[in-house]
Formats: sequence, C-alpha cells, structure tokens
Amino acid sequence: MSVTIKTAHEIELMREAGRLLNIVHKELAAAIRPGISTHELDKLGERVIRSFGCVPNFLNYNGFPASFCISVNDEVVHGIPKKSRILHEGDIVSIDAGLIYKGMHSDAARTYGVGQITPEAQKLIDVTRECFFKGIEYAKAGNHLHEISAAIGDYAESFGYGVVRDLVGHGIGKALHEDPQIPNFRQRGRGIRLVKGMTLAVEPMINAGRADVEWLDDDWTVVTEDGSLSAHYENTILITDGEPEILTLAE
Ligand code: MG
Repeated sequence: MSVTIKTAHEIELMREAGRLLNIVHKELAAAIRPGISTHELDKLGERVIRSFGCVPNFLNYNGFPASFCISVNDEVVHGIPKKSRILHEGDIVSIDAGLIYKGMHSDAARTYGVGQITPEAQKLIDVTRECFFKGIEYAKAGNHLHEISAAIGDYAESFGYGVVRDLVGHGIGKALHEDPQIPNFRQRGRGIRLVKGMTLAVEPMINAGRADVEWLDDDWTVVTEDGSLSAHYENTILITDGEPEILTLAE
C-alpha cells in the first residue's frame, strides 16, 4: 500500500475522529483507580465511543477480542482487557484507543499511574510522552520520516531507556494501519519525504530496561523480556507546511 494524502473532506472527518477520541481518553483517565478491572475500563470506553455513533476500530481487528488494548506494568502493548485483571495502587497502565468516524480512523495511546506510583515509573511515563513531542518537531512537509524516528529514539536512549524495535507507528486514514511504518529509533536511510495532508500515528513505546520484547501465549500481549516497566504515548497527527496538527489532542 502506498502512503495516502488526505483530501480536505477526509481531513475534516479525521479532525472529528481525533476530537472524539480525546474525549474517550479523558473519560477513561477519570475512571482509573485501584480496584477497577481492565474489562470495566474497556466497557466504559466502548459505551463512550458508541454514544458518539462511532465504532471502536480495535474490536475484532485481526480477531482482537476487545475495544481497547490495555497493558499493565511490563506489558508493552496489545494487552487484552479482562475481568480478572484488577488495577492496583502503584501500577502503570497504558490505554491504546481508536475509533472510526464516518469511515475515517483515529488512534491514540496514553500511560497513567494508578494511585501513587514510584518516581521512576512517573519519569518513564513523562519521558515517553516527551519522546512523542521531540519526534514531531520534525513532522513537517519537506522533512523526512526518519528524522522523527531518530529524534524519538535518541531522546529515550539519553535516559538509558530501551526503545522497542519490534513495533512501530504507522500511517492512518481509511484504514487503521496504512503505510508508512514509523520506527521509534534511528534508521540508516532518511525515509520518505513528508507531504502536507499525510496523517500519521506516532507512538513511542519505551521500556525502563532493555528494548527486547516477547509475545505471551494469548498471541496478543507484548511484554518486556526483562520484566521492566513499559510506557506508550501516541497521537494521530496531520502533516502541514508548518507545525503538525495533533488531531487526537484537539478540544
Ligand atoms: Mg497505533
């Protein structure tokens, strides 16, 4: 698949898809507390998405059994919500969410602390978020894709963190996952030239320990191989001639 350039109309729809997803994230953030299950968060978020007349795009994606990926502590991404998975004080929880509005997708992830967390865990969450913003300083028409990758990876590694290699960001639009792939670490080539109207999901996944990950037997949940904490931060952005528009942070 080639990289798609969105029409003005598609961009309008993606703005709304992003704005609505930001509301979903805020509702979920407000519900996080010790004692809640990841299943309850999933059902709450799904109700909010459907109240907008939208569809959760992760549900049934390649057979994924829930509306959100909810990943706790050493789980990097793609955690499956469960009634038995209860959040405890001191956990960190990553919620990856997406929806479809009139045929156009949005995708965004946030990591939160549950109750009081350690300063080390908070720093990992903060740096992962900062990685996204370091990366998108280069997300501008005329620049090259891998400038974003290098900025994310270099920043994370300056803290001694492991940057996940096996999972990457992606283009997004009429499909949840479009070209190009967006690695979160320095590449040999410079990558494609960015063009106004591209929409990208930039999503650093950063481990407190080593970069290596493995898949659990459920074939979905990705965990750090060394058991260290992992954080995730993602937004859907629109490439312009100037600063990118962050669609999933729009109010
Ligand atoms: Mg994504």
